Amino acid sequence: MKNLSDINVIKSVMSKHGVTFNKGLGQNFLVDPEVCPSMAEAAGLDKNTCAIEIGPGVGVLTAELAKRAGKVLSFEVDNRLLPVLNETLADFNNVEIINKDVMKADLKKIIEEKCEGMEIAVCANLPYYITSPIIMLLLESKLPIKSITVMVQKEAADRLCAEVGSRDGGAVTVAVTYYAESEKLFFVPRESFLPPPKVNSEVIQLTVRNTPPVDVKNEENFFKLVKAAFSQRRKTAENSISAGLGISKDQVATALAEAGLEKTVRAEKMTIQDFATLSDILFE
Ligand code: SAM
Repeated sequence: MKNLSDINVIKSVMSKHGVTFNKGLGQNFLVDPEVCPSMAEAAGLDKNTCAIEIGPGVGVLTAELAKRAGKVLSFEVDNRLLPVLNETLADFNNVEIINKDVMKADLKKIIEEKCEGMEIAVCANLPYYITSPIIMLLLESKLPIKSITVMVQKEAADRLCAEVGSRDGGAVTVAVTYYAESEKLFFVPRESFLPPPKVNSEVIQLTVRNTPPVDVKNEENFFKLVKAAFSQRRKTAENSISAGLGISKDQVATALAEAGLEKTVRAEKMTIQDFATLSDILFE
């Protein structure tokens, strides 16, 4: 089998099939031979696991997943890479490349059809231009996923793995915390990619919770409130929530007081329980 983290192998297989890097699709391929085995190992795969990958590129991580998992479903939007993957993954009979934009795929149906009875683990070096949308899609669709082990831009890792109520926290931090426990696994410098991107990266792991850490009466309202509260970071939560939800400041002030929160509190100082309590009061 070819060494798919070797720069010369990547260049030669791409040029053989007339493929050039598409920056717009976040095509920075891993060339550090240790990263993919470590990611696949961290994903905790076994023969009863169906690994879901987003963006196989030339298949460097896909091969490591295929060695460990029972099955690999890998979504690749760029059809120019299909003949490349046909060649690089020819040794594996447990890999299926799905030529679809992951954001438009019916993941629930595909998983039901192709991974019946198996545990599901996502493991991917994500296209960075849609990091948060992909992670939110995976979490919000309530798919039967046990964990998400992904490479993301370092700054995205800081936000996704921040504590709710800390300076790095944002709406996405609250959402991730609601659905999963997050952990940073290891740092990956920009030189580990071909071509090297402008940013450094980090591999993170989200372990999906069976039940959320707080009770909310209505999840949709809870997330509407969180989004509104963080929509204007420099303003107080009272102002952002009032503007974001189109309700009067007096009404928000009364709800904040009832929830035991200061009138001047900012979203980044609020705990996940604060958001839960406030949304139950506000939308009652
Ligand atoms: N896994 C490879 C690696 O580690 O070298 C490639 C990772 S590269 C950062 C991201 C990959 O995601 C590219 O192959 C790109 O074509 C693919 N991609 C970008 N947008 C996508 C989308 N919406 N759906 C599926 N794949 C996508």
